[in-house]
Amino acid sequence: MNRRHFVQSSLAAAVAYALPPRLYALDGAASQAAGGLAAVKLDGSPTVIEQAAVKELKESLRGPLLLAGDPGYDESRRVLNRSIDKRPALVVQPTGVADVRNAVTFARDRDLLVAVKCGGHSFGGKSTCDGGLQIDLARLRGVRVDPLSRIAWVEGGSLLGEIDHEAMAQGLVTTTGTVSHTGVGGLTLGGGFGRLARRYGLAIDNLRSVDIVTADGRYLHASGKENPDLFWGVRGGGGNFGVVTGFEFGLHPMQREVVAGNVVFPLDRARELLEFYADYSASAPQELYVDAILSAAPGGKPGVFVLNTCYSGASGDAERVLAPIRKLGKPIADSIGPQDYVAVQRMNDNADPRSVGTYLKSGFIGGFRKDLVDAIVDAYQPHPERATMLFFQHGGGAVSEVAADATAFPHRYATHNMLTLVSWPLELDRTPHVDYLRGSWAKLEPFTRGYYTNEVADEAQSVVDENYQGNLARMRELKRKYDPKNLFRLNANVVPA
Ligand SMILES: Cc1cc2nc3c(=O)[nH]c(=O)nc-3n(C[C@H](O)[C@H](O)[C@H](O)COP(=O)(O)OP(=O)(O)OC[C@H]3O[C@@H](n4cnc5c(N)ncnc54)[C@H](O)[C@@H]3O)c2cc1C
Repeated sequence: MNRRHFVQSSLAAAVAYALPPRLYALDGAASQAAGGLAAVKLDGSPTVIEQAAVKELKESLRGPLLLAGDPGYDESRRVLNRSIDKRPALVVQPTGVADVRNAVTFARDRDLLVAVKCGGHSFGGKSTCDGGLQIDLARLRGVRVDPLSRIAWVEGGSLLGEIDHEAMAQGLVTTTGTVSHTGVGGLTLGGGFGRLARRYGLAIDNLRSVDIVTADGRYLHASGKENPDLFWGVRGGGGNFGVVTGFEFGLHPMQREVVAGNVVFPLDRARELLEFYADYSASAPQELYVDAILSAAPGGKPGVFVLNTCYSGASGDAERVLAPIRKLGKPIADSIGPQDYVAVQRMNDNADPRSVGTYLKSGFIGGFRKDLVDAIVDAYQPHPERATMLFFQHGGGAVSEVAADATAFPHRYATHNMLTLVSWPLELDRTPHVDYLRGSWAKLEPFTRGYYTNEVADEAQSVVDENYQGNLARMRELKRKYDPKNLFRLNANVVPA
């Protein structure tokens, strides 16, 4: 070996050493893993994937197959909640349905643990995993709108902002969530609340059909007419029934300008403002969406109480509808005014826990009981070392006009999603912050009935089961039909009947 080759190969060895090992072993079983890729099976047991099989998978894909150390691997494995730090053995980034089918078939044949990622917003980190195969749909993005039939065809890895942007360009909308970089996949399959839900129903209520790759690798179309059982199940069943590669949404005509913004008050007015919010949000017209947020940043600065509003009805009615808020006295800030709907949909894009650890608990309430106000004032305690937030997302209206068993989402009684969240700098120990939240939630949970499956974190299976309420038995039958080995289990899991 000449000197040039020596330097090059030493450099390559040093680089390889510095990178996370690509072919490695779990539990020190190095010899068994020699020549293979250590991975984790569905039941949590270790396995080794032969190099030849990895190569074969790679060759079957148009999109990349990423292993630890590859550029892009870390971006795929990470989710928004930075306290989740998991490392899949393999990451497939499909560019189309064929890649999704090959990835699903590969995982199923080897009983590999599977995670499916769209926008990566799962609070509990269900879209990533240790040692399994992650299907990251980041390359499967795109929206096509037909203004005549008022339909949007949305690829399975798209983000909400893409729908809002394309649809509004044609004077059309559908219900999406309040942060534009949330994934269409996760948000829709669990239900999908947002600023227009009280007018047009949940995201699932606007869904016309899906294209889905099921656990057996089949590519199915599900709608009211074709595979209607599956179509029922995906509307609220989360990722339990397969990888959705395409969504078809119905759209509604709407003007671009809405009257929206935040009114900010000092937190010490929380009791009086919560009592106001209880009545005001209950009697709101369907065109009005109003969230209440108690928020305190770390550092000990005084907290705030925010009313986040969006009135999407006729602009001439906005002032009358919002007048009760104007009578609440002088706020710290008031940004309510005519705004571009798509810009409003992006206004919370930076208010997320991107660089911190986060833990949350949430539950639906059906009507805002006055004694809940006492419980909140008691339970909500700002702390200088963490951000604390208690948030009511406004539901009701058209959401409640759909029967509890019309889709797999049973929580039609929900007037609000009550969500409490704590975040802390990653270098701090999570324990006191998580303990605070659990203690605080213990005082609030008795007021809730069921919770949003999209906010599932570490709940016991019995709690997850109970949460599907009267729909559980039907979902378990469906799971037996479409995913009998429970390949898609990293979600609010439905255990096959
Ligand atoms: C900042 C923030 C704001 C939010 N705002 C709202 C809101 O306004 N309204 C609301 O209803 N919810 C909201 N949520 C909750 C949100 O609905 C869930 O976090 C949801 O899971 C996010 O979807 P995702 O695709 O980004 O997540 P991911 O973490 O990518 O996926 C979550 C799960 O969804 C499944 N999944 C995703 N895509 C597919 C697919 N194509 N096929 C099959 N399964 C799939 C998988 O099981 C995956 O584990 C918010 C969350 C955050 C963090």
